[in-house]
Amino acid sequence: MDTITHGIAGALIGKAVFRGEDLFASHPMNRGRILTWSLMLGAIFPDSDVFRDIFSSDRLLIITWHRSITHSLLMLPLWALLLAAITRAFANSRRWQAPSFAALTAIYAVGILSHILLDLVTSFGTMIWSPLEWSRPAWDLVFIVDFTLTAIFLVPQLLAWVYSHPEKAKSRAIGMCLVFLPTPWLIAKIGEIAGAPISGRVVLSAMIVFAALFLLPALQGWGLKIRHDTWNRAGFAAALFYVACTIYAHQVAYARIQKFASSGIGTAWFERSAACTSCVWISARGRRATWNC
Ligand SMILES: [Zn+2]
Repeated sequence: MDTITHGIAGALIGKAVFRGEDLFASHPMNRGRILTWSLMLGAIFPDSDVFRDIFSSDRLLIITWHRSITHSLLMLPLWALLLAAITRAFANSRRWQAPSFAALTAIYAVGILSHILLDLVTSFGTMIWSPLEWSRPAWDLVFIVDFTLTAIFLVPQLLAWVYSHPEKAKSRAIGMCLVFLPTPWLIAKIGEIAGAPISGRVVLSAMIVFAALFLLPALQGWGLKIRHDTWNRAGFAAALFYVACTIYAHQVAYARIQKFASSGIGTAWFERSAACTSCVWISARGRRATWNC
């Protein structure tokens, strides 16, 4: 999963599960805000391993190093303790009322764990048992960038902010609508450049969903009756439901492949693919120049 989505997910977990406060509240830093900041930073931390790429010319680091010890379940307690100690020291120097060291350690542990689980659901592979073992488990449920999941983590937090002030709700809702309406179109353009086109129907549907999400709660002010916590909990529940749907979709797709593989056409296709793979492998090793398979 991309680092921005990890951070957004961490902030949502902080607010939905631990009653953390918004990151950018108008009041001074307090326990609730430090909780959300810590969970978000914990959720981002594992991807700090990419900084090693900057100081290395090894192009294979993205495979051999990324998603290793900072993404390890075995190393997780050490990272959580370290980050909690840094946060306590920083909060003390600024005279902020921070959660206890034990609470901060638990918060960072949850943040790092959320990162590991969200990386595990992708197809890239995550070395969760490093440095003892360097295997790369992958649940292969979603691609490493999933804009739908990002939106599910982000939009409820924005809705909680939009409808937290009666006098500002309408202007905030319209502002968010103006920001989000062109987003699906922009993503589709990027997808086109990257060779992964998105259909116009999907773009239009996403625009309608964003408009409905931000503007409908303003009708007769019912959005103002929903509590800050409730928006965020709904977002957390929606994210869990989305992941459950990907598990179901994965099972259905796997069953279809199994059915195809056991059919006569499937067996012939797999035999041909296996022959082709060995042919390409031999060619790649420079032992045979034929690609006619
Ligand atoms: Zn990661």
